[in-house]
Amino acid sequence: MMKDISGMRALVAGGAGFIGSHLVEALLDQGAKVVCIDNLSLGSRNNLAHLADAKSLDFREMDILDRDALRAVFHSGHFDCVFHMAANSDIQASGENPEVEYRNTYSTTFHLLETMRMFKVNKLFFASTSAVYGDRDGMAVSESNTMLSPISYYGAAKSGAESLIQAFSHMNQMDALIFRFPNVIGPRLTHGVIHDFIARLKADPSQLTVLGDGNQTKPYMDVSDLLKGLFHLLSPMQGIDSGHGVSIYNIGVETRTSVRRIGEIVLAQMGLSGIPVHYTGGKGGWRGDVPRFAYDLSKIHQTGWRAALTSDEAVERAVNEALK
Ligand code: NAD
Repeated sequence: MMKDISGMRALVAGGAGFIGSHLVEALLDQGAKVVCIDNLSLGSRNNLAHLADAKSLDFREMDILDRDALRAVFHSGHFDCVFHMAANSDIQASGENPEVEYRNTYSTTFHLLETMRMFKVNKLFFASTSAVYGDRDGMAVSESNTMLSPISYYGAAKSGAESLIQAFSHMNQMDALIFRFPNVIGPRLTHGVIHDFIARLKADPSQLTVLGDGNQTKPYMDVSDLLKGLFHLLSPMQGIDSGHGVSIYNIGVETRTSVRRIGEIVLAQMGLSGIPVHYTGGKGGWRGDVPRFAYDLSKIHQTGWRAALTSDEAVERAVNEALK
């Protein structure tokens, strides 16, 4: 996709969020010039505080849906590539407020693509999700499975965003690399099951309440592995160069971790093993939650990339980080 990352002018949309802030850091480490835009609806300036002295980073607090502000950023930025990490990432919350998906997940994608078209920027990395597949009852899904059937507003908005990317790519000869992430975890994560368990136990260390029956089982991936996979596929050695169109990859780990096991890891690391754990029952944690998920990773493995950490190892590391 890119010949050389050093000197690349990159726009990171949603760069003050959990994964975006790790991406900004990694791009700067590799010599890129980065403009980061974020409306701080879920992200935070603190996530970029350690990069405050970086001369190649320009952070702007703004909403991607503000057309004039977005055009001004593109006008001065002369970007080689856009990394679109912005979205509503709190799937459970948007179950009560679907409009946030329309705005922050779907419409941000439209506005970025439309502005890329206007300014003739033709390289995009897009953070998609396993949620586009919907509930496949734990059957391993591959990218060649074109029947997307999301069951959450979030999954639907990401699926729609992927369709927009396909059309803008075709109409404007854009190259896009779409990664469908599983649960990504690590330092600066602010929501999800690990965060939820720790918050509940800090509020009341005498018991833990778990949504669902605890058998929800999914792959959890460390953010460092995600970034290694991303940079691996940005490399010209992998054949993703100009004129490639849209490339879609499942990225993840082969192993999975149950919610019950995450509870055990959190309790052990907090020194609370042995306290009662209550399960609210039912297969999923909330409506729209996919209880059991598995990926077919053969396409990305064939490129020579593999995650270093297993799902359990990633969870153990993330719990340790969150408790520091
Ligand atoms: P995050 O919420 O920490 O980051 C998203 C960022 O986008 C936030 O900083 C938020 O303030 C910003 N944002 C949202 N709407 C915006 C708007 N209209 N204008 C400007 N900024 C806006 O989430 P994350 O976990 O870092 O996820 C990053 C990306 O990866 C998201 O697109 C998410 O859907 C995707 N993803 C994450 C996971 C995961 O497990 N963390 C899994 C699959 C996909």
